[in-house]
Amino acid sequence: MPRRQFINDLQKAQDNATPLPHGIFGLQQGDDDGQFEFEFLAPTDPAQEAVKITALIPDVSEYPKSHEYMIFCGDDAPRHIASALEIVRGTNRKTVFELLDIVSATLNRLSPDKDGDIGMPDSQADDLESEDEVDDDVYDSDHEAFEISAQHTTTVPTPNGKPRTTGRAFRTRIREDLRIAKSAGFKVGHLGHLLDGHNSFVTISIRMSKLGISDEAMQAWHIDPKDYLILIIQYPNGYKTNEELQSCDSLRLAPNLGMRLCASKKYKPTLQEAIKAFTTVKKSDRDSISSTDLPSAEAPVAEEDNLRDTFISKPLNGFFQERLVPLLRYRSAGLDWCGAENWFTEITNNGASGADAVPDKFYEPEKLHNSLPPVATADHYTARRVTQYSFPLLAMQFALRHFIRCTEFCLVCHRKLYSDIEAIKPYVCDQSLCLYQYMTLGFGPSIEHEIMTQPYVVDLLLSFCYSSANSKRLKDFPDGLAMMVPPIDLAIYSAGPDLASYGYRVGRQPPVVEKKVEPDALPTYEVGYDADRLELIFFNMPEHCPVRRGSWIVLKMQGTVDASEVHCRVADVTYYPTISIDPPLILPTTANFATAQTTTSKTTKTVTPATTPKWAQARFQIYEQDFEKLDKNGKCLSICKLLDTIPNVKDLQDYLAKNRPADLKFWVNRLSPAALSLLRWVIASNRACIMQVDGETSTGQERLFGMKDYMQFRFAMGAPDKEQRFISEVRKVSDRKESKFPTMFAWHGSPIYNWHMIIREGLHFKNADHGRAYGDGVYHAKEASTSTGYSGMAAYGYGGQANTQGRWANSLLNVNSALALNEIVNAPDEFQSSNPFYVVQHIDWIQTRYLFVSCVPPDRSTISIGQEKKPSNAYSQDPQRTPMGLGSAIVIPASAIRSRLPEASDDGARTARVKSPSKRLKGSGGFDNPIAIEDSDGDSVATDAEDLEILFEEAEPEPEVLVGSVVQPKAAVGTPTDFVPRLLDWSTLPIMPQPAYADSGATKRLMKELNSLQKVQQSTPDLGWYIDVEKIDNPYQWIVELHSFHVIDPTLKMINDMKKQDVKSIVLEIQFQEDFPFSPPYVRVIRPRFLSLGQGGGGHIVLGGAMCMELLTNTGWSSVSSMESVLMQIRLAIASDPPARLDMSSGRSGHGQADYGVTEGADGYIRACNAHGWKIPPGFKEMAYGIRDAGSAPP
Ligand SMILES: [Zn+2]
Repeated sequence: MPRRQFINDLQKAQDNATPLPHGIFGLQQGDDDGQFEFEFLAPTDPAQEAVKITALIPDVSEYPKSHEYMIFCGDDAPRHIASALEIVRGTNRKTVFELLDIVSATLNRLSPDKDGDIGMPDSQADDLESEDEVDDDVYDSDHEAFEISAQHTTTVPTPNGKPRTTGRAFRTRIREDLRIAKSAGFKVGHLGHLLDGHNSFVTISIRMSKLGISDEAMQAWHIDPKDYLILIIQYPNGYKTNEELQSCDSLRLAPNLGMRLCASKKYKPTLQEAIKAFTTVKKSDRDSISSTDLPSAEAPVAEEDNLRDTFISKPLNGFFQERLVPLLRYRSAGLDWCGAENWFTEITNNGASGADAVPDKFYEPEKLHNSLPPVATADHYTARRVTQYSFPLLAMQFALRHFIRCTEFCLVCHRKLYSDIEAIKPYVCDQSLCLYQYMTLGFGPSIEHEIMTQPYVVDLLLSFCYSSANSKRLKDFPDGLAMMVPPIDLAIYSAGPDLASYGYRVGRQPPVVEKKVEPDALPTYEVGYDADRLELIFFNMPEHCPVRRGSWIVLKMQGTVDASEVHCRVADVTYYPTISIDPPLILPTTANFATAQTTTSKTTKTVTPATTPKWAQARFQIYEQDFEKLDKNGKCLSICKLLDTIPNVKDLQDYLAKNRPADLKFWVNRLSPAALSLLRWVIASNRACIMQVDGETSTGQERLFGMKDYMQFRFAMGAPDKEQRFISEVRKVSDRKESKFPTMFAWHGSPIYNWHMIIREGLHFKNADHGRAYGDGVYHAKEASTSTGYSGMAAYGYGGQANTQGRWANSLLNVNSALALNEIVNAPDEFQSSNPFYVVQHIDWIQTRYLFVSCVPPDRSTISIGQEKKPSNAYSQDPQRTPMGLGSAIVIPASAIRSRLPEASDDGARTARVKSPSKRLKGSGGFDNPIAIEDSDGDSVATDAEDLEILFEEAEPEPEVLVGSVVQPKAAVGTPTDFVPRLLDWSTLPIMPQPAYADSGATKRLMKELNSLQKVQQSTPDLGWYIDVEKIDNPYQWIVELHSFHVIDPTLKMINDMKKQDVKSIVLEIQFQEDFPFSPPYVRVIRPRFLSLGQGGGGHIVLGGAMCMELLTNTGWSSVSSMESVLMQIRLAIASDPPARLDMSSGRSGHGQADYGVTEGADGYIRACNAHGWKIPPGFKEMAYGIRDAGSAPP
């Protein structure tokens, strides 16, 4: 009943159950079917007269699924309103109320400025580009915008169009939201006038090193582990809660919320930096190459800037803005992140309406790899007994999901990728539109940067691609890039895959011959060619000139036997039928063509004006073959031909070094658009992280010894996750076998044409398309010569012998064989076979570490391969299984296998650790065993006082105030405390026996914690907790005093209790186990005594004085929690409902008799854990009762 639905919706809107959108009134049904009328008056502009607006649905039977609206106003309406209505978009399929909403938002944004000029209305909000404009409007000048608006006294617009209050409840909610984010392990900051309900920023940050990202991924992503990952949330119209944001439609959202993902040395940006992050339009990546050689072209910011984009900020910022809030709505309906994302895609792609019932399959919980760190999987939305969710925390968790797991999602459409390919760099899904956008929007890596810093890697990638295309083994193609390529040479094409000149080698598996598609028959033009003047003249002049300036053509000389050709760009067509061309490219295969034309010079145009034209017979074709219309053979052929037109990497570097902007797209007369697209694709689609060891641009890494004259590349293949799985397999097997050397190394060779695919897909059995004589698995040789030489290898498919056919002719490396050195779990007796080859059947047992290529450079001086020299610090390998290089056993520099070193510090500790392999594995960065965080810069660890202050409740309740009243957030604290530091006499305390263990990792971490707490304490006296760090003589045992509970809640009865007993603080003992931070600390109250829950007490203090919080058990503990946040949570827990009460019958505290004893605390803790089903940390009993044998714990 579509018409009925329309009438219903209209009546509902008229009923005023929900107020009409801002500025809209007088809604009524119109004369015609499907028509309604309303008036609009901008509330900010009372001088104006109300405008009558009519909306009409031409076919009301389509309502509410596919209808459209016509919107117009009377002739007397102001011109700017009329024109805004003409271009208002996004109204189709919207309900009556939504339509009003859109109109209201559009018109409210039109406010005449002083000149009387009218700003053009923003295009609608679901148009991504408008996002920046909206931001610009808010802050189009700079910092001043902030100050002005902060003093503004009008009401703040809200999603409901009602003025909002910014009273105590508002501030309390902000505090709660931030506190929740903080207690989840993040650093929380704020900028601007957050508590006043004005423009402000909330920042949520965490150190990169805490994210469980492998060293390989850190390098590939240009991340510094010491940096902070920061999510900046901008509230241009004041803080909005999760509920408020969810009630905004997309149009309202953009002006009320902004998000940016950044990195910085500090945990929060300055106000100026934050404003800039939302206003500066980032310069194109490709303009960014400068002599300073930025580490990542994605971060083209001035040096003094601390705040910068991460490698993936660009695609993620828009994604967060567009989808986070809609996804949160689905989350509220009970879907998890994955279900919500899939449902969103479903709605967008298949036009399901958001109102439709969500099918069951979207409710299925997401399956997660257990190798993900807790911080990547924590989900605030699943928190129990929570009714209000903290938007900053939800946003950060969503951001981490897409940052840490970026390789699992398409960079453009952000769909989850369901593929087996384990890559280290994020990429796009297989929709060609996504590939196109990835390449054109600059989401991908900067190819110019790659060419400058890793020229040999680029050469390698192009060579591998050529080889693969040449043997017709390419499987993925640069489709979707709208490449117009030279016509396919029909002679070669028809000859098919057997043609020797295109290098098809007889192998075991001939390439699949698919049905041939005839390439387009493209016209050929007969011309005369003057090589001196670089001019062509048309003999049979077509009516219109078939080429334009910038067209690329293939020019062939008549009568030459070998049909040699040159490629060139059309420079000018003004004097058609004579056209001029840029100096032609001499393709390597057509060198004889060039020598025939002796006067043709590559670099200088030696035009002698007086010469008479000497027209040679020639013909040409245009680059107008649509690449996508070719079949696979045609595509392979075409790729080879285009690669032949790409200059060698030295020439590319020279161009980039000498030209500004250093951007290859301006090298128009040398690189055709198609060739550039291909170059970009080859580099950007490489998802492995390959680093040069040799060459001038190498980062000074040591070479491996034993592979003389081979060019070396360090090689990180596989997702960060894959590295973790490898490490956990290594640990599992080496623990089981108690092996002294948990891993071993061996060679894996493969023909050159396979490497293009291997580096993209990783090693898998499908690659081993040869030799299965010793079973299924990845074959590894013990000696390099087995993998490189001829003898004996053919039978097993190793090799890649010299094959001059099928090499990329412009390669400087001239690769003639390639082999990898893999690190493998050291358990040959469990391999599929271990003689004569290691055949490893578990992919997770293998990680590729090095790639070696043998080069036959035409000119030895063009490439530099390092000298053969034993590394200064060798990695200690299993002496029984050290692989043979060429002539001697290989020696691996210890620095190359850094993923297994505890930290990459150069403090000399490394050598000490090498002795114990199992210890070495411990700090490998595995998620269940994260690296102890090396927070060396104390300043950035300490939280700013203002950011701590905001987390605490205000001292005095105050009357609700409207925005505009001057509210000083500073007034929130400052009530004097009666606590006096350093008065506690520790000798009177019944404390636990001192632990005797001294694990260096835990000790270090605890010293860091103490250090940072001391710093916070010095800068911020009113923390509510106090540690007399000087008195602590064992870092595993702390005494902490909690005080000033009136700051949390002045009505707490406990405060009076404490006064009566003259208790100034609650004294806690905190004891840590030797595997801290992987197990929680044990926290118990020493004094005063509290009532238990049964006696009317609370505050999470159980009988015996132990603190009973899930956070402090193995179940709830997170190794990334800082002690600062733990202390704050304990303090809040004591004050939370039901709050703690002192045991007033126990007599005055401070004299010993009222203290809790050591064992009663431990008993209480164990009882509480059992009651809640929480896991007691292993080793707890030994620690708490001071015994070594867990079995004999007291009853
Ligand atoms: Zn996609």
